[in-house]
Amino acid sequence: MLSDLSLKELKEYAKDLGLPEYRGSQIFDAIYSGKTLEEISNLPKSVIEQVCKDWPSYKIVKRYDSKDGTKKYIIEFDDAEVVECVLMSYKYGNTLCVSTQVGCRMGCKFCASGLNGLKRNLTSGEMLGQVLLVNKDLGGTVKERKITNIVLMGSGEPLDNYDNVIKFLRLVTSEDGLNISDRNISLSTCGLVPQIHRLAEEGLNITLTISLHAPNDEIRQRTMPIANRYSIKEILDACRNYIDKTKRRVAIEYTLIKNVNDSKACANALISRLKGLLCHVNIIPLNYVKERGLTGTTRKEAYQFVGLLEKGGLSATVRRTMGEDISGACGQLRNSYLGGKA
Ligand code: SAH
Repeated sequence: MLSDLSLKELKEYAKDLGLPEYRGSQIFDAIYSGKTLEEISNLPKSVIEQVCKDWPSYKIVKRYDSKDGTKKYIIEFDDAEVVECVLMSYKYGNTLCVSTQVGCRMGCKFCASGLNGLKRNLTSGEMLGQVLLVNKDLGGTVKERKITNIVLMGSGEPLDNYDNVIKFLRLVTSEDGLNISDRNISLSTCGLVPQIHRLAEEGLNITLTISLHAPNDEIRQRTMPIANRYSIKEILDACRNYIDKTKRRVAIEYTLIKNVNDSKACANALISRLKGLLCHVNIIPLNYVKERGLTGTTRKEAYQFVGLLEKGGLSATVRRTMGEDISGACGQLRNSYLGGKA
């Protein structure tokens, strides 16, 4: 698919088709404007016929607009698989939450994305497609893009689709393309330790976000199967290495689940675990997922939990919730779009 290719690769692609180099640039402009073949006006019919089999056919099939400005999109690919991505508008810009896989095989008990396992990985071009389509929907162009920040927090485990995610990050940060700064990109992982070490070597200084959700392995194992494979110690060691290599502060996600990880003892254990680590903790009351039967705390309880962490010397905040009226947690929207048959 052509959105997998960089400008340089598209110029080579054009050359291989026997076309002049500038046709490669025109194809690039059309791809990055999110154009369908029908919308292209500056390429001759003969060229269109040559490129049509490789043209991306991803499209927005549904958009939900929340009262708070959040927009959720269902995007469909050429094999009819769908993912969701979410646009959140802040004072400083627009953040797009991008999906990296159709489904997920990590099996976290509180998460809707993995309810039916992993369907397939997304290609780099399909991840970029989410950004290009939403940018176009907002009236943005390549030069004047409307999306300023990206978080890899949609459905899927990004580090379980490592090569495609890295390729996507290189495309989306490329100066020729959307040129989004790596400082404005976050990658969230449930903690695949070897891949965190690899990521530290990529020269991509993105923000690493760890979905920790527990202060010790025993509690973590109750909701996150991956905790049987890697310990919190190994994850935090990998974080230290990441900080060392990139000089970036890591983010720790901690979803508060009623009677699982929300006690004062948990807060204290978390403080001792994270003390001295260059990190910021995001506390999120669990979004209720009916298929999972786990409940979140109230926001008031979340603020109390943050208070304990701050008293213990950690930097922590309660994450703003957005778009609750149009289905909150990851995977929920796709599931409701598919009528629970995903
Ligand atoms: N697989 C990656 C990224 C996707 S999930 C990861 O695990 O980090 C993005 C974040 O949403 C993760 O922190 C995940 O644990 C959290 N999450 C999943 N289900 C949730 C729910 N029901 N309520 C609140 N947060 C949830």
